[in-house]
Amino acid sequence: MGGQSIASDGILIDMAKVAWMELNEDKTMLRVGAGARWNAVIAYLNKYDCSVAVMQSNNSFSVGGSISVNCHGWQFGRPPIADTVASFSLMKADGEVLHCSRSENAELFSLVLGGYGLFGVILEARLKVVPNERYRLEQYMVPSTDAIALYEAKVAQGDVAMAYGRMRVDADMFLGEVIINVLRRNEDQVIAHEALKDPDMRVIRRSLFRGSVGSNYGKRLRWWAETVVQPKIRSGEIWRNDLMNEPVSVFENRKDANTDILHEYFVPKDQVGPFIATLRSIIPAQGGNLLNLTVRHVSTDDDTYLRYADQPMFAFVMLFNQKRTKDGEAQMQELTRALIDTAIDLGGRYYLPYRLHATPEQFHRAYPMAETFFERKAHYDPDLLFQNAFYRRYAPKP
Ligand SMILES: Cc1cc2nc3c(=O)[nH]c(=O)nc-3n(C[C@H](O)[C@H](O)[C@H](O)COP(=O)(O)OP(=O)(O)OC[C@H]3O[C@@H](n4cnc5c(N)ncnc54)[C@H](O)[C@@H]3O)c2cc1C
Repeated sequence: MGGQSIASDGILIDMAKVAWMELNEDKTMLRVGAGARWNAVIAYLNKYDCSVAVMQSNNSFSVGGSISVNCHGWQFGRPPIADTVASFSLMKADGEVLHCSRSENAELFSLVLGGYGLFGVILEARLKVVPNERYRLEQYMVPSTDAIALYEAKVAQGDVAMAYGRMRVDADMFLGEVIINVLRRNEDQVIAHEALKDPDMRVIRRSLFRGSVGSNYGKRLRWWAETVVQPKIRSGEIWRNDLMNEPVSVFENRKDANTDILHEYFVPKDQVGPFIATLRSIIPAQGGNLLNLTVRHVSTDDDTYLRYADQPMFAFVMLFNQKRTKDGEAQMQELTRALIDTAIDLGGRYYLPYRLHATPEQFHRAYPMAETFFERKAHYDPDLLFQNAFYRRYAPKP
């Protein structure tokens, strides 16, 4: 979204064909080419009753891209994906291929994970995998002021595998209510292998979602469908792999006149209330058209250099719609900067794979380790072979 994978006058390396996979004998570790996408990984692991340990909420992304941004998902009690990476091989700027892990080339291991491709090309990775399990879905609707307390009570009951909250976004009760979704391991695990299934009600969910873009009525209808209709017709049990196997095409915007823009902010637990209170005033005041807001918990990241979860965080993932005009872009920039300031003032951070609206000052305030991150970049890649728009915007100018 911000040119993290491209640089003007640069050469883009397409890794899509580097997509082989190999599961070890005891089914705990996957060796995988960096260009493989999660949809292929899930299909492969499903044959062995295994699953990805941590990934985004959609399956359309590559292994290399996911570990280079250090993505996270809604897998409960987990740090971002770096925690599941045992090692990887990296082709450096001078062509040398190094094996990197927590004990071998440890500094590069930590710089490359979440390092936006600035230290070399990841060729393959070894990822820890988990069993594919069957989960039971529980849903609770609460006022947003009670959400953290309810979430904590529910996850304390144990056996939680995945959890997230979705906030109400229509103007009638903007961010006033939350549906908390908790997926617990079913005690009655079915051992028999099952083939992957298509996501539930894909066409209806797409119509409801896209129909809500320009209309408060559509947003209310979607909330009603999710909170009243869906719980009545959806089966309460689901396989982990089916749950994680959703492509971005289910929701993607195919219009020319407007586009959907992701934002993500991380705030510590005691700042969730103040953060929501500020969102409720800033977003409507600045005319933000918020389509979706999910909240997930992320545990502390002890692995990456440019880390966003330096402590346990609640992640607020927001999808806005904006016009593809100069004014639409300027408005989104202003809103983004206001939200970044709010998150930083509350001891939080913002996520780096999206638009580059943050000022360099905001970037360095959110990521105080960035200065040494860029010094190490110059050390490992002195001719600055690997560059992208993110690097050019935030690295110190020579
Ligand atoms: C609709 C949508 C939903 C999303 N949901 C989530 C979410 O739930 N959680 C989350 O954490 N993120 C989420 N994201 C962000 C997403 O995780 C990142 O944009 C991710 O980088 C996408 O993977 P990709 O394969 O497209 O990477 P790319 O965009 O191709 O690359 C991302 C970065 O990684 C580098 N890179 C890619 N491959 C390699 C390689 N082999 N070696 C070295 N560097 C490499 C690129 O240079 C670039 O800097 C979402 C994004 C979208 C568009």
